[in-house]
Amino acid sequence: MNLSAELRWLAGQLKGWLLYQGRLGWRGLPRPQPVWGPEKAPEKGGGLSLAEVRAELGDCRRCKLSRTRTQVVFGDGHPRARLMFVGEGPGAEEDAQGLPFVGAAGQLLNNLLHKLGLSRQEVYIANVVKCRPPGNREPEADEISQCLPFLKKQIESIRPVVIVTLGRVASQALLDTQTPLTKLRGRWQRYEGIPVMPTFHPSYLLRFPRERHKTWNDMQQVMEELGKRGSYQ
Ligand code: URA
Repeated sequence: MNLSAELRWLAGQLKGWLLYQGRLGWRGLPRPQPVWGPEKAPEKGGGLSLAEVRAELGDCRRCKLSRTRTQVVFGDGHPRARLMFVGEGPGAEEDAQGLPFVGAAGQLLNNLLHKLGLSRQEVYIANVVKCRPPGNREPEADEISQCLPFLKKQIESIRPVVIVTLGRVASQALLDTQTPLTKLRGRWQRYEGIPVMPTFHPSYLLRFPRERHKTWNDMQQVMEELGKRGSYQ
């Protein structure tokens, strides 16, 4: 790296760190853009409203997951969130409560958000499939293909500035790729022009805590990107 490239890199790192410290509440630092800001949001995002997408999904019977689920787990969070998380599919606790990421993996996700100075109310969380696969198996291709259009409509409605995909299934489904997560993780991808950061699924991090620093680093890139992209696109 030559000197000016190195200085640019250092300035980027410093900016990301200062934004992060600002989020943690360091006095004297300019507050970064709020993760959401109704004053910045357009009257309406693209496409349908989230309520309209939910109504279209209805009491869904489009795939076999409907036979074993308790309820549809649509999504949770701010309808104008600048940051959106996409998981794989509801587990037992989510199926019981009707909310995404409320079990053990959700607790870890909450902790991560808290450490980043974020709350669940200011981000949006959804899954690729909206119904619990029995026995917590992975969703199958036919189930994903029936449900993915609704995730896409949620994204179109929210128009997040950055998307974080949690784990292989979510990353491959949204990005329409077979590339392994080891190659996708930590590297910016794009979905319909929106930067996507694939990272580990919280369930994986519960099993392999030594990998958590990698997701932490991925999230630093995400916070930096959000800091750079001041307004809604
Ligand atoms: N795992 C997921 O992928 N989604 C949830 O909502 C919960 C656990």
